[in-house]
Amino acid sequence: MNLIFLGPPGGGKGTQARIAQDQYGLVQIATGDMLRDAVKQGTELGKKAKEYMDAGQLVPDDLIVNMIRERIEAPDCANGFILDGFPRTVEQAKALDRMLDDTGRKLNAVIEIRVPDDELVRRITGRFTCANCGEGYHDEFKKPQKDGVCDKCGGTEFSRREDDNEETVRSRLTAYHEQTAPIIPYYESTGLLRVVDGTKPIEEVTGDLTKILEEVSG
Ligand code: AMP
Repeated sequence: MNLIFLGPPGGGKGTQARIAQDQYGLVQIATGDMLRDAVKQGTELGKKAKEYMDAGQLVPDDLIVNMIRERIEAPDCANGFILDGFPRTVEQAKALDRMLDDTGRKLNAVIEIRVPDDELVRRITGRFTCANCGEGYHDEFKKPQKDGVCDKCGGTEFSRREDDNEETVRSRLTAYHEQTAPIIPYYESTGLLRVVDGTKPIEEVTGDLTKILEEVSG
């Protein structure tokens, strides 16, 4: 099963993709995580991407498309993948179609997780993750059960993304509305688009998503 999780920054794509990948044996491909890794490791790609990411702007299409092409051709993706954070422009969506055609694969569904802007800023500026296992938390909505200790792995170090500050979040939302939202009608026209209400609690969104995934995988 090959899926796209689409939606604004902070809408819950990553959280839901992590749950679905475990449930369905899929590989989560998060372009933001891949880019942050590249920046950390100081690769050529990382050096080129950093200034765009710091400004809350999209990294140029050609860099992203090459990165994704390599990733979805890796053997671990043979059973299926969840694209989380890609495509983010119509150009990227078209490039993805060509890549899938070339390798004889297809998309099963494109899931839009819909959340209004005013809710997003609050969500994003409060979030943090376990530095060891990547489990996501939030200052208000999802604190670790024991203060300072990860529920999942027991880790005690946490990190916050540099671009999760209010100013950069506003730029990221603008980029979403101007450059990414136009891919929604693109997928609507192919009949692949499904919409879930991302304002509900995490477990309810997972429940709604599971129903859709049962349908499209059957
Ligand atoms: P994310 O973790 O998905 O919020 O992505 C963080 C940042 O990485 C974005 O603000 C962009 O600068 C960059 N980025 C991630 N995915 C893409 C993409 N598909 N196209 C362009 N830029 C991207």
